[in-house]
Amino acid sequence: MDGTALPVVVVGAGPVGLAAAAELLEQGLEPLVLEAGTEAAAAVRGWGHVRLFSPWEWIVDPAAQRLLEEQGWTAPDPEQYPTGAEWVERYPRPAGPGAGRAGRHRRPRGRGDPAWA
Ligand SMILES: Cc1cc2nc3c(=O)[nH]c(=O)nc-3n(C[C@H](O)[C@H](O)[C@H](O)COP(=O)(O)OP(=O)(O)OC[C@H]3O[C@@H](n4cnc5c(N)ncnc54)[C@H](O)[C@@H]3O)c2cc1C
Repeated sequence: MDGTALPVVVVGAGPVGLAAAAELLEQGLEPLVLEAGTEAAAAVRGWGHVRLFSPWEWIVDPAAQRLLEEQGWTAPDPEQYPTGAEWVERYPRPAGPGAGRAGRHRRPRGRGDPAWA
């Protein structure tokens, strides 16, 4: 970004925000992702012990999968049902802050954790 264009801002690095960011990256835009939590998918981490009712093939955004595979990511068994924690570890964590072409991430001001600044 050259400073003359405003970024597309995505609020929240949950499953939907990360999918939106991946789709924007594929369109050649560099989104700015604002996340209130200390890590991506903060909300899902809160119920990480629960097994999802959707198998892997339904819970990975195709654009995010393409970007991750560029970085050597291997898709999980599409027919398996992960827990919330397993899903976070295998997908939002590698797709989130600091990961390859995941765009820029920042915590909203005043939330305290400089790791996201
Ligand atoms: C127990 C349980 C089991 C589920 N199982 C399934 C399943 O099997 N299959 C399925 O398809 N769906 C399932 N869901 C639903 C799925 O988790 C949600 O549809 C999905 O998480 C929604 O994604 P999201 O990104 O919109 O929101 P969230 O996951 O809620 O993520 C929002 C993110 O935005 C951040 N945020 C919030 N406010 C702000 C702010 N003001 N500024 C910056 N960041 C902010 C939060 O910290 C969070 O990281 C389940 C939900 C629950 C609770």
